[in-house]
Amino acid sequence: MKLKSIWVWDKIDSIETLLANIADGVIVTDAQGRIVILNSAAEKIFGLSREKTEGNTGHQRLDSLIKQSIQGKKLKEELTLAYPQKRIIKVKTVPLKNKNGEITGAIAICGDVTKVRQLEKIREEFIANVSHELRTPISAIRASAETLLNGAQGDPRATKQFLENIHKESERLSFLVADILDLSRLESDKIRYPKRKVPISKIVNEITDRFSSKAKEKQIKLKTKTPLPSLELKINEKDIALALSNLLDNACKYTPIGGEIEIEVKEIKEQVVIFVKDTGIGIPPQDLPRIFERFYRVDKGRSRETGGTGIGLSIVKHVAEKHGGRAQVESNLGKGSKFTILLPK
Ligand code: ADP
Repeated sequence: MKLKSIWVWDKIDSIETLLANIADGVIVTDAQGRIVILNSAAEKIFGLSREKTEGNTGHQRLDSLIKQSIQGKKLKEELTLAYPQKRIIKVKTVPLKNKNGEITGAIAICGDVTKVRQLEKIREEFIANVSHELRTPISAIRASAETLLNGAQGDPRATKQFLENIHKESERLSFLVADILDLSRLESDKIRYPKRKVPISKIVNEITDRFSSKAKEKQIKLKTKTPLPSLELKINEKDIALALSNLLDNACKYTPIGGEIEIEVKEIKEQVVIFVKDTGIGIPPQDLPRIFERFYRVDKGRSRETGGTGIGLSIVKHVAEKHGGRAQVESNLGKGSKFTILLPK
């Protein structure tokens, strides 16, 4: 709202109706900085009450801005509130003048920008993370290509090694980009999210089949606890399959040779619970609370070596949440992990 000094201040009733219906908080004070008008948005933002308010707003910085506006200044500032809720409020204060141009008080317009600032922060972090993650494979590809150009081509063994390196890193780059696209699709609220009824056993069996050869390669026993419940769920089949394959992929990656992975599906009250258990390396307790954050890895080196992007589990979390459910983990360091996806029936 663009406010210039207000000249006429006699139709208080209609002005109050107007103020009650705007989303921004509006506080009007007299020349001593005492509140004379306060709309409900301002009450809510600052935890004030029209009945109880005598005097100033009680917020030190806001009172100071108002005081300066009574001296004739137009000011803008973002305030961080701890009370009544943690919020970021964009405040604009201007002098209030009468017909003769004399200052009779001040007006403060207060907009809640908490959500906007949070989203901006998330986006900035995301971009910083993505560029950091992209930089690693790109630098590796570049270094290998440069070494080849600088003469390594003469040595067939070195050439093969650098070309393999370029191939491996470019593959990682495309996995990373695919994961980032999946994640940003899942994080967006705008895109329609199609769901249809699918037997849960169908997805579990398909994904288990898909990982059977990978498990066999590592002599890992991959099994499904049978019988699987014969149950249809209204889900986004592709994304549930994606989440499950991320969990199985991790289970295979982080379980040493000779280990075991088991998938179990259970109906518990109003929920369908999918467990993916492994006898792998486990996750240290201090890392558990952050494990579903994007790009969070316990051991960056190990994750990279195995082609990890650090996005898999955040995709799992988002897919569960898109279905009104959630993802959980329990783990015993050195013994194994149990990932759980809970979905409402
Ligand atoms: P990544 O691509 O690195 O596997 P994820 O988001 O899938 O990324 O997983 C994040 C981190 O969580 C991994 O880097 C690993 O440290 C840990 N992790 C995930 N699954 C398991 C598991 N089954 N056993 C042990 N650690 C795991």
